[in-house]
Amino acid sequence: MSDCIFCKIAAGEIPADTLYDDGEVLIFRDINPEAPVHLLVIPRRHIATLNDLSEVDAALIGRLYLAGQQVATELGVAESGYRTVINCNRDAGQIVFHIHMHLLAGRELGWPPG
Ligand code: 5GP
Ligand code: ZN
Repeated sequence: MSDCIFCKIAAGEIPADTLYDDGEVLIFRDINPEAPVHLLVIPRRHIATLNDLSEVDAALIGRLYLAGQQVATELGVAESGYRTVINCNRDAGQIVFHIHMHLLAGRELGWPPG
């Protein structure tokens, strides 16, 4: 996807503060953080929304969580806690159409989200 900002980050064409990269999953800091720790966990492969997942992607989605768990542990927020969110389409406020899991931590997070 030549016009996708997260594909460009994955390709190294746009800089990002990257904390994790295993070739399949990439984790970098959100440019506009909503919490002291605000990471974006993405698959390198372009998948636009949760609605575009299929059976073959099941393990990949699991790897997003495992990579997030690893980095949360490394950053020292695994025990205090963190929240993972994947927004899908308009009503959830998705603005970048390349699947990304937000990982938020470092403060008490309100519930329910707005
Ligand atoms: P969404 O609303 O689609 O779930 O979240 C998109 C997120 O991507 C937002 O939190 C936004 O701050 C972040 N974002 C948008 N463009 C960039 C960028 O170029 N670099 C980084 N690191 N984050 C971005
Ligand atoms: Zn993309």
